[in-house]
Amino acid sequence: MAKYTPMIEQYLGIKEQARDAFLFFRLGDFYEMFFDDAILASKELEITLTGREGGGGDKIPMCGVPFHSAEGYIVRLIEKGYKVAICEQMEDASVTKGMVRREIVRVVTPGTIMEGKTVAEKANNYMVCITSQDALMAIAACDLSTGELYVTSMPASEEWLRDEIGIYEPSEIIGDESLLSAVASSALPSGRPVLYTSWERRQDDLVSAQFGDSTWARLDQERQKCVSLLISYLNETQKRSMGQLTRISSYEPGQFMVLDPFTRRNLELVETVRERSKKGSLLWLLDRTETSMGARLLRRWIDKPLRSRSRIEERLEAVERLYQQYIVREDLRAALKEIYDLERLVGRIAFGSANGRDMNALKLSLQQIPALKELCQDSGSETLQRLAQSMDICGDLCALIGDAIADDPPVSLRDGGMIKPGYHERLDELREASRNGKQWIAELEARERAATGIKSLKIGFNKVFGYYIEVTKSNLSALPEGRYERKQTLANAERYVTPELKEKEGLILEAQDKMVDLEYALFTELREAVNAEIARLQKLAEQVAEMDVYQSLAAVSADQRYVKPELSDGYDMNIEAGRHPVVEAVMKDSAFISNGTSLQKDGSSILLITGPNMAGKSTYMRQVALFSIMAQIGCFVPAERAVLPLVDRIFTRIGAADDLIGGQSTFMVEMADIQVMTEKATPNSLIIIDELGRGTSTSEGMAIAQAVIEYVHDVIRCKALVSTHFHELAHLADSLDGLVNYSMAVQESGDQVHFLRKLVSGAADSSYGIYCARLAGLPGSIIDRAYGLLQDLEKASLHAVAGEAAASLETAWKRDQTKESRDVFQLSMFGEEEEASTRAMAAGKPESAV
Ligand code: ADP
Repeated sequence: MAKYTPMIEQYLGIKEQARDAFLFFRLGDFYEMFFDDAILASKELEITLTGREGGGGDKIPMCGVPFHSAEGYIVRLIEKGYKVAICEQMEDASVTKGMVRREIVRVVTPGTIMEGKTVAEKANNYMVCITSQDALMAIAACDLSTGELYVTSMPASEEWLRDEIGIYEPSEIIGDESLLSAVASSALPSGRPVLYTSWERRQDDLVSAQFGDSTWARLDQERQKCVSLLISYLNETQKRSMGQLTRISSYEPGQFMVLDPFTRRNLELVETVRERSKKGSLLWLLDRTETSMGARLLRRWIDKPLRSRSRIEERLEAVERLYQQYIVREDLRAALKEIYDLERLVGRIAFGSANGRDMNALKLSLQQIPALKELCQDSGSETLQRLAQSMDICGDLCALIGDAIADDPPVSLRDGGMIKPGYHERLDELREASRNGKQWIAELEARERAATGIKSLKIGFNKVFGYYIEVTKSNLSALPEGRYERKQTLANAERYVTPELKEKEGLILEAQDKMVDLEYALFTELREAVNAEIARLQKLAEQVAEMDVYQSLAAVSADQRYVKPELSDGYDMNIEAGRHPVVEAVMKDSAFISNGTSLQKDGSSILLITGPNMAGKSTYMRQVALFSIMAQIGCFVPAERAVLPLVDRIFTRIGAADDLIGGQSTFMVEMADIQVMTEKATPNSLIIIDELGRGTSTSEGMAIAQAVIEYVHDVIRCKALVSTHFHELAHLADSLDGLVNYSMAVQESGDQVHFLRKLVSGAADSSYGIYCARLAGLPGSIIDRAYGLLQDLEKASLHAVAGEAAASLETAWKRDQTKESRDVFQLSMFGEEEEASTRAMAAGKPESAV
């Protein structure tokens, strides 16, 4: 075997510890990569691949990035879904004999990165751990940048797990191997790249030490395992304290309304289906938050609507008070605007990466808290008053930072200028000494100018040569011999030093070094002091976020003229003049047409909605689902009045633009969704099915649609809105007590159809598909041909229908000898099928034959 140089041997040893990551191996001012890492990195980062002799036969592939610009490269690799292990020199190379000791100091992964756009300002970046044990599954999610850590567990169900993962949209998932491969086998609906790592090492002692024994003991076994795996992974990769993780939020899934990933997407809760953008989503509409933590909390609320009536009422109470008081709301907004991202600031303090500006931002934020607290106390809202009462304004921390940190500190921790004058005596002395030194230099410059008579003589400073006297070439003759020692020659000037200048320089630089070191020490001391109070700041950040969300919901509700929903423990849902919040908000000129909704236990639990394409069916159905979500997060709703029961789960089956998920056909996806629905829906659920039964042949589709509707009606007995283009299904109203027919009204004039967007009772009589095809601009020849075929088909089916009708009418006529039945029968005998069919319908009898 080839023998490598000691350095390459060292590299290979360290690489063993980070086989699944790029190893950034520090060599002086560069991070170098070797072997396969180098080949792949050169492609991914578009940097030059070179080679290096390393012993052995061939050159070793190598590429590198400069140390000072490494962050950008690291972020790029992480965004592509890789891990990067940072290996540093642990000794000063200039004083070490032989090989410098090197170690991995941190492994950066998609779920643990603290910089770059992965850590978007208003969104979380979650790292998720999933486990299963006996008949239970657990999931823990952690955002290292904000210090949030959630955990929950449930009886084993992959579909539940997928729902939960869908909510966190993690960039990285770790956990039990078999579970990971099950989850990874089908794309997660978020569409984000996810990095999977199988992880089995637990560190229970670490977790109980970090969070306290009592918190740890309160978790059930499955949750303990899940959190322990997660923390051990974080510890293994970050290799430093994670003081920002102060709390484990353990929750029960049953506290929240269940929304599977498809429903969340279909209803466009946090992003639109087509563009996958926030704009156009419910989150976009409701987000008037002023702080980043408020924006993130609002999203969490939308992801997890509540089911506890009292908790929802509490939220609604706060929103209502703020809704009524424009001035309080505006004052709150003004104070919130000045508050920085407390959660992330705290995260950086704990991580040890906070600088002077971060400390200053924390101080400026804390200065707003007393005003915020007072506004809440005066708001008249019990919820806000309770929040204010438990609020610790952290005035001591604000004063501590205010006394120490300069008002406009530099980014760097190593240049001085962070600490305020008067904070530390010794620092003031050193500063004075350095200032005097600089004054002395200025005076020297004046003296030298006078002595030599060279007006352009100047004294400058650079990092390599220190202080120097600079004289332009044209003036060199005026310089006396002997006293000046040449240091550096430039194109048109010479630089000199004098013994006097050298001596003073020594003193000035020494004072400056001491000053910078002292400032750094004082700064880290302060950062540590604040670090010790992190839990208080995190609690405060949560309270600020909550206030921010209340004012946001109140502001939207007031601007859009929403009403407070009346929550009920009963079954019935009654909405008067409801509107679709987002469609209404984006409509510019035309007014949104409101529609009521009445879903009753007795007589109208299922609305079967027919009407042409584009009539407004799906807008209407989504609107109803959004009402439940908005109300259960504590927001007002767009209606004149709304009585809403608490919904435990919303199922939607809405044909979306991208129905092809994981290569399955539309029809299979639809059937799988419906299967889940039949299994999981309760009488308190809400079902929305758009275009039930498409994607297979007409008769089969219709048969399945009917069977599904009957099942919902007879077995599940929950509220449901179903739209279909099979207007033939309208007859179900006769056999199902709880089903009512509705349609979206259209007005026909000539060959034009005008959509009224008004829900009217009764089924639509045709589906206007060809009309829509024409609207969409299909060639006239296709349209004409389609109309021709339709007529033929209708004739054929009319013929069949009339035949059957006639047969049954004949029987009827023979039986009861009424005039109508005889007329119809005779008409059909004389080839007037159309008229016969119409009358047959009117006579009511033969409908079952139709
Ligand atoms: P369908 O599901 O019947 O095909 P959609 O619900 O997709 O129809 O509605 C088609 C378009 O009509 C929507 O894009 C929306 O802009 C508009 N629309 C729907 N409902 C209303 C309404 N109540 N008032 C005004 N415009 C509406």
